[in-house]
Amino acid sequence: ALVVRHRMRSSGRWAKAMAILREFEEKCGTPIGKLRQVADAMTVEMHAGLASEGGSKLKMIISYVDNLPTGDEKGLFYALDLGGTNFRVLRVQLGGKDNRVGKQECEEVSIPPHLMIGMSDALFNFIAEALAKFVATEGEDFHLSPGRQRELGFTFSFPVRQSSIASGSLIKWTKGFSIEDAVGQDVVGELTKAMERIGLDMRVAALVNDTIGTLAGGRYYNQDVIAAVILGTGTNAAYVERAHAIPKWHGLLPKSGDMVINMEWGNFRSSHLPLTEYDQTLDVESLNPGEQIFEKIISGMYLGEIVRRVLYRMAEEAAFFGDSVPPKLKIPFILRTPDMSAMHHDTSSDLRVVGSKLKDILEISNTSLKTRKVVVELCDIVATRGARLSAAGILGILKKLGRDTVRGGEKQKSVVALDGGLFEHYSKFRGCMESTLKELLGEVSDSIVIEHSNDGSGIGAALLAASHSQYLEVEES
Ligand code: BGC
Ligand code: MG
Repeated sequence: ALVVRHRMRSSGRWAKAMAILREFEEKCGTPIGKLRQVADAMTVEMHAGLASEGGSKLKMIISYVDNLPTGDEKGLFYALDLGGTNFRVLRVQLGGKDNRVGKQECEEVSIPPHLMIGMSDALFNFIAEALAKFVATEGEDFHLSPGRQRELGFTFSFPVRQSSIASGSLIKWTKGFSIEDAVGQDVVGELTKAMERIGLDMRVAALVNDTIGTLAGGRYYNQDVIAAVILGTGTNAAYVERAHAIPKWHGLLPKSGDMVINMEWGNFRSSHLPLTEYDQTLDVESLNPGEQIFEKIISGMYLGEIVRRVLYRMAEEAAFFGDSVPPKLKIPFILRTPDMSAMHHDTSSDLRVVGSKLKDILEISNTSLKTRKVVVELCDIVATRGARLSAAGILGILKKLGRDTVRGGEKQKSVVALDGGLFEHYSKFRGCMESTLKELLGEVSDSIVIEHSNDGSGIGAALLAASHSQYLEVEES
């Protein structure tokens, strides 16, 4: 092959590289008709997941959140947000209707990579210790009523089968975590044991997914929020369902009539999804083969990696970067989505950001403008597919709720709270997602609002801890 490559004329190489790119582009295609099929499939799977446990790839997890924040929440609460490469601890003084969020403090701690693939105790010890250190810095501005135990909202952004508002067992890890002995365990139990081991006196009052936290945080400020979507390292959505529309729910009908559902849409898959051979090998070689297929073509953990895989093929089969394949290009996940985004947004005439990213990350120097343009185009193909599919997912939810068309001439306002690094920092992704949703919604598009809920999940977890505080009854009487 090497000999053949040497003999390949440069024009032949270029043509071959372009053929690889065009084929990939074609396979990634998301015409509006396909997006409608994806949205319909999403709605169908939502019904199936609500009908019975295990009835669908969509787990449609019952969150036990049947009341969203009202504004009356009061007191000092902590929150812990675990779900990506960083975790955050937060404390907030809630002041009720008139004062809302008073003082708020937050700290971010990065998780040493070995803890993401080690043992449960090691991870939870690390978290509990960071939390204890944070609690120790609580200043005078915060007030815990005398005799009260500190309470925590625990945002744990992985699929958990909830058994109550403050307990649930881990179904599986996603997003690069893989800690075997934690699977099947009650994550609140794991955290509580770790807190006890180090003598931190704190009670977990609510265990929530980040989508649920974002929904709660969004609702606190805007009563029209009906769903939340995370587009970050991973992707997922939650929404407010009518409890009587959940056949698999055998508990009491909540007073509100509502139940928030954590869809775990990252695990969605459908024959309508535009999957390529690159997605297939990425999946096979991943920590969770066969799972989280929607997530693997949409979310921040994977977009850069897809780009790398296509570039690798172009380097190997079309000598796109010269006679040999640049060694760095062989390393999985070396091209991160923030770097891809930086290249995609390069507005300089000589695409110098692209040039320096290729050089700094992949050690490919002296790339021509023509080559750089191809790299940008590739980023565009990958980001566009992800953005358009996430818009289709949102349409699926709106359809399930009957909010995708004008009913009885009345336009009902619906707000979807969005969060996550991809949404927040990758403007072309966000722009494409928003314009695609508009296109899909047509005449109702002006009554559907996408709202950035900045770090809503932390505040949301604290709010849910407040409304599930063990002291609530005492105060009310
Ligand atoms: C997890 C979800 C989470 C999402 C966004 C996914 O990998 O399965 O629980 O909400 O990432 O953080
Ligand atoms: Mg997050």
